[in-house]
Amino acid sequence: MHADDLLASVSDVSDETEFYTPMPANYKPGQTKYVVVFGTVMSGLGKGIFSSSMAKIMKDKGLSVAPVKLEGYLNRDSGTLNPYRHGEVFVLDDGMECDMDLGTYERMLNQNLTRLNFCTSGQIFSQVLEKERRGGYLGRDVQMIPHVTGEVKNRLRELAVQSGADVVFVEIGGTVGDYENAYFIEAVRELSYEEGPNSCCFVVLTYVVEPPTLGEQKSKPAQLNLQRLGGMGIHPHIIACRAHNRVTRKVREKLALYANVPMASVFSMHDCDSVYLIPDMLRDAGIDADVLRVLALEDAVDAEADRQAREEWSGYISSFREASTPVTIGITGKYTSLRDSYASIIQSLEHAGTQLGARVNIEWIDSAEVRDDNAADCFRGIHGIIVPGGFGTRGVEGKISCIKHVRENRIPYLGLCYGFQIAVIEYARNVCGLGGANTTEIAAACDHPVIDILPEQKKIEGLGGNMRLGGHDVAVTPNTMLSRLYDGAEKIRLRFRHRYEVDPRYIEQLEAGGMIFSGRACHQPIMQVLELPTDVHPCFIATQAHAELTSRPLSPDPMFLGLVRAALAYSGAAACASADGATACGCS
Ligand code: GLN
Repeated sequence: MHADDLLASVSDVSDETEFYTPMPANYKPGQTKYVVVFGTVMSGLGKGIFSSSMAKIMKDKGLSVAPVKLEGYLNRDSGTLNPYRHGEVFVLDDGMECDMDLGTYERMLNQNLTRLNFCTSGQIFSQVLEKERRGGYLGRDVQMIPHVTGEVKNRLRELAVQSGADVVFVEIGGTVGDYENAYFIEAVRELSYEEGPNSCCFVVLTYVVEPPTLGEQKSKPAQLNLQRLGGMGIHPHIIACRAHNRVTRKVREKLALYANVPMASVFSMHDCDSVYLIPDMLRDAGIDADVLRVLALEDAVDAEADRQAREEWSGYISSFREASTPVTIGITGKYTSLRDSYASIIQSLEHAGTQLGARVNIEWIDSAEVRDDNAADCFRGIHGIIVPGGFGTRGVEGKISCIKHVRENRIPYLGLCYGFQIAVIEYARNVCGLGGANTTEIAAACDHPVIDILPEQKKIEGLGGNMRLGGHDVAVTPNTMLSRLYDGAEKIRLRFRHRYEVDPRYIEQLEAGGMIFSGRACHQPIMQVLELPTDVHPCFIATQAHAELTSRPLSPDPMFLGLVRAALAYSGAAACASADGATACGCS
């Protein structure tokens, strides 16, 4: 379909035409390019990592990119999802609570995203139903095709207009064959028809099984799923095969044959050590050249920008490979499937470790098991501790014991959100003599509600919901550890997701007890970062924010850097203390 025909047939619902393609003002069909990534065979293949790596290698070439994740579930956002089932809730600067993949995109692209980059079925259907009530489809029954698919295309085009991106990267959530995402697939099929040749590049991420009993790679599940996608009208341009080992030529040939995709466009994407190695792996395989060819973008490449970006990135990769000083950070976390629930924290530790030449090992500590009398045993071999964000009662008393232990034994500490609030409770109880101090989240009638909900502050903030969400400025107190970590910055920006905070009535008592509030909201009495004086403790810092959400490979979060640096020093000192003659290895 030509752009002109399309423009002639769009916009309003009418009985004259079957076409229904609402389009944002200023949108020019055929001008924006789209790369669409589909997952087949099974979930958990790292589709977000793959898509973001593809977006990165295009961005490196000087093209502006805008990713969007199309999520099949009916929730409007990820705010109410259980992270132990679904991975961490990632919060964008504008307050959108979204899928953890958005974190991968932000880190990979070194780019802040907005709510337009995250689209759920809940958002699409709400929009359609609201429009229907306003009479937006008068005279017509509202159908999945063209009305719902029309809204999906409109969202993609809206992103294209708002972001001004050269290439929009669309990641279809879930797996081909899921009920939930079928209409997204239909929408992008229509999109490619409407936008015309060289506008859309369809990329399939598939999985090649290698059952240990056979010891050889098998392509059948991948073939069947490609067939299924073909039945939905999608003919891929590129196939990327996830597998444990490099995918054999024989398997690639089969997939090429069954899917009518040239061999040169069937790639192996086998496992590697760090997600940050994947962009180079894709580049080495030539996927970037393939995408440029399909989208006719060869002439848009800025070779010098590409060279610079690659040099910067390869600096990070070599530091990652060379980082060798082992250091162990304990994280208090519950349940299994911890990797996804704390994805950004794990990444932030990797960023900080890489910059400092450290190989960070993570030990998970079940805080429900920790008590004052066994804390020393629980912390053996651990050089630093993170108490991360969380909600509810479970493990809180154990976390208080953890924090008491690390505070008294000068073990480096970083508290994140709940880890900040619990540090306040511990200090109030054990240092300031406020017995029974607690958060009203778990003990509404406690003696000293040092952490509480403050509705009047919520009013000042002007937030509709009861969570304080998204990016907020933090005023930094000069001459503090925070100020040093941020190179003397007076104002920093961090992301938040919390309902409770330090009750200002207790600030004076906590400060009198020695706690320093080194980061505060700019216009309200909201405490955002606390620390202990460095002569009392080498590194005891906690923030009401989620510092892990804004750490990037090339610019690690300074608080994580502080923790890992202090943990390295602590581990050196610990090694010396246990060696014969501490002075022999240079420590005093
Ligand atoms: N439960 C705490 C609150 O709601 C902390 C939230 C968090 O750690 N994300 O304030």
